[in-house]
Amino acid sequence: MLRVDAIHKGIVLDHIQAGRGLKIFRELKLEETGYPVALLMNVPSTKLGRKDMIKVSGALDLDLAALGLLDPNITVNFIEDGVVKKKVKVGLPERVVNLLRCKNPRCITSTEPSLQSIFTLLHQETKEYRCFYCGERLRI
Ligand SMILES: [Zn+2]
Repeated sequence: MLRVDAIHKGIVLDHIQAGRGLKIFRELKLEETGYPVALLMNVPSTKLGRKDMIKVSGALDLDLAALGLLDPNITVNFIEDGVVKKKVKVGLPERVVNLLRCKNPRCITSTEPSLQSIFTLLHQETKEYRCFYCGERLRI
């Protein structure tokens, strides 16, 4: 097993819901980074019972908004010089650009595909977003 303290510089995605690690691994295209990466599944957790973890040894430019949409409960540990320098609970992003599509056929983003899609978070609990252009609501 690849230990956290074995990583000199990199990131550890912790508290991934068990069973979701592989999907997140693929969505982040970690197999294409060229860095040493490890996906750990069904790790015993006092908080979640079981969890998945992803460890990346390298300076990965992580899209926290995309990650938050996939699993808002993930904690990201940023490792530098072998120690955790920063811990971030991703949560749902307040603003989402180009990751969600508006379902309203009359929305300007439906007729102008070159426009950036922009959604803002309405409710953290209900996971509801609102289209910046037409106000259409979207639950993720
Ligand atoms: Zn819209």
